[in-house]
Amino acid sequence: MRSQFRILITAGALALGSSSGTLDKPMDFGPDNPFYAPSTLPFLAPPFDKIKDSDYQPAIEAGMAEQRQEIREIADNPAPPTFANTFVAMEKTGQLFNRAMAAFSGVTGANLNPELQKVQDFEAPRLAAHHDAIFLDSKLFQRVAAIYKQRDALKLDSEALRLVEFYYKKFVHAGANLSDSDKAELKKLNEEESTLSHAFTTKLLAATKEGALVAKEKDALAGLSDAQITAAALAAKERKIEGYVIALQNTTQQPDLDSLHRRASRQALFENSWNRADRGGANDTRDTIARLAQLRAQKARLLGFRNYAAWKLEDQMAKTPDAALKFMDALVPGATARATGEAKDIQALINSQNGDSPGGTSQRGGFKLEPWDWNYYAEQVRKAKYDMDESQIKPYFELNHVLENGVFYAASQLYGITFKERKDIPVYNPDVRVFEVSEANGQPLALFYGDFFKRDNKNGGAWMSSFVDQSKLLGTLPVVYNVCNFSKPAPGEPALLSFRDVTTMFHEFGHTLHGMFADSQYPILSGTAVPRDFVEFPSQFNEHWATYPAVFSHYAKHHKTGAAMPAELAEKIKKAATFNQGYALTEILAAAELDMQWHTLSADTPLQKPDAFETAALQKTQLALSSVPPRYRSTYFAHIWGGDYGAGYYAYLWAEMLDDSAFQWFEDHGGLTRANGDRLRRMVLSRGNTQDLANLYKEWLGAEPSIEPMLKNRGLVEPVSK
Ligand SMILES: [Zn+2]
Repeated sequence: MRSQFRILITAGALALGSSSGTLDKPMDFGPDNPFYAPSTLPFLAPPFDKIKDSDYQPAIEAGMAEQRQEIREIADNPAPPTFANTFVAMEKTGQLFNRAMAAFSGVTGANLNPELQKVQDFEAPRLAAHHDAIFLDSKLFQRVAAIYKQRDALKLDSEALRLVEFYYKKFVHAGANLSDSDKAELKKLNEEESTLSHAFTTKLLAATKEGALVAKEKDALAGLSDAQITAAALAAKERKIEGYVIALQNTTQQPDLDSLHRRASRQALFENSWNRADRGGANDTRDTIARLAQLRAQKARLLGFRNYAAWKLEDQMAKTPDAALKFMDALVPGATARATGEAKDIQALINSQNGDSPGGTSQRGGFKLEPWDWNYYAEQVRKAKYDMDESQIKPYFELNHVLENGVFYAASQLYGITFKERKDIPVYNPDVRVFEVSEANGQPLALFYGDFFKRDNKNGGAWMSSFVDQSKLLGTLPVVYNVCNFSKPAPGEPALLSFRDVTTMFHEFGHTLHGMFADSQYPILSGTAVPRDFVEFPSQFNEHWATYPAVFSHYAKHHKTGAAMPAELAEKIKKAATFNQGYALTEILAAAELDMQWHTLSADTPLQKPDAFETAALQKTQLALSSVPPRYRSTYFAHIWGGDYGAGYYAYLWAEMLDDSAFQWFEDHGGLTRANGDRLRRMVLSRGNTQDLANLYKEWLGAEPSIEPMLKNRGLVEPVSK
């Protein structure tokens, strides 16, 4: 089994419930299908030159059937359960399924078309059901449990022991240990959760659409650029409304609040955002989330846990809600003290301008700073202090320079690996590039695919995944890819990146290193198959090298002249990173605390009133700052009610603590050296999920991770600038 499998399932199960259909016609699957046999290409790379859109579905269907059969044979094996005939056997199942699914997820994410979309929609609930069929198989669980109980007597090596514990906990986590009546109860709760979660998403989508700001006159939009105003006029036309429409984004703060001159417009846009899902009527989400929180607590009690967060965090690095809460509580004073300082600076600016703004109405003596004013004035401070003209910066960040003299260079310095472009490996789109990665001694390590440019048929954002996971058991080396959405230049022109794009490249390549250095026996524990509060650590850690002087000066060179970036510009880029961080950290902490407060309710707590609950939760956690609202309010917190981040939003901050502590360790030990890199690779990056991650990290660092480097990195330990 492979790691990606797990990601697939949660998404499918959540969104689609049990609506499995039947196939229109029996699928033709035979030796003509390119997935039928393992690839004959180097590193088992997918043969994209032979794969047709119509090949995926029959291969996935045949792969699921084959894996179910393999699992059936393991569960029904008349021989007594052993580690080999149960765990090793399970790890060998699903190889056809995995190679078809890995290629399918790759192309549907980055190169979708209507035919593939149809297959994806059809297969989503079937994939969820496929997963349940394995992890709720009671005969299979009996074998797993039998070995788990005698694991200490079996003299297993540490990775094998970890595998036994991993599977056992995964089965138990899903409810395999429950009595039949409790299983039925769990199934009911799961179904209700899935229905409510889906209802939340539907309501929120409508509420967000309805919450758009409508302006009758253009004057109300003073401050927006011509392009933004044109877009607002177009949005109104699409909705058949007179005037202008500014659609809402997911977060509390809205991008246009940076520049809307009129205070009344800012207030209206902010309030539309803040109150989008609590206005009564069909799109009000309050009853839905109150019941979701309650039923999740009931589900946790059924599974033997104090609350939902305790159940959810059991397999995470933090392990308990208390650990996550303690971590967040420690960040609150530094974050809110800085935010309060920033608020004072902004208030002073408002007062000094007499509350005047171009095109707006003046209020003599100014006014009291409110959340809808924050970004508008912060943006003025940012412009005065760090304004950077993108057209000045971009010529120093040409994509190939950044990739080869920045991203690859840092990895070579740290880990000794080398890169060679291969034009002979087939790709799913001509923009995709392939590199063979070798060890310092020339031994092959991995294949790396880079798909950097934006396309209309590509998902937004950037991500890393793999076509083949490393496993010694299966004899596979990693085949890893990064997908980004950088603007594609005109033919013959250089691809010039923003600094944000540069950081994204380093980030995704950090995931890639985690995948490429994997050195596990078992695929399910390999590489990036780690808990959510750990998985962003290697990627965020790798971002630090983007501004590390020896790396930065190696890649940030003018694409025409080769001249180094002027020191003043480089300095601005680095300083801008610590601007407004009191606000930024406080709003994330407030959201993460709301998430954790909702999910630490016990099962016998009555249904909560979301408004009162939220106010009390923010006060209790010292995060009730009048001008710094949470990044998401409970009523539109899609991560936790509509997605799989319930009791998991803290993970972003947790991983930041890990990567900043790690980088501090590097700085204290000589920085960018092979010795430091090799040590990180040996003790962390190669280990996947084969060890307890808290221990693994502590052994590598020589101490527990601490929040000080994180506060320093966000610029929150020095006094507020005057
Ligand atoms: Zn990431």
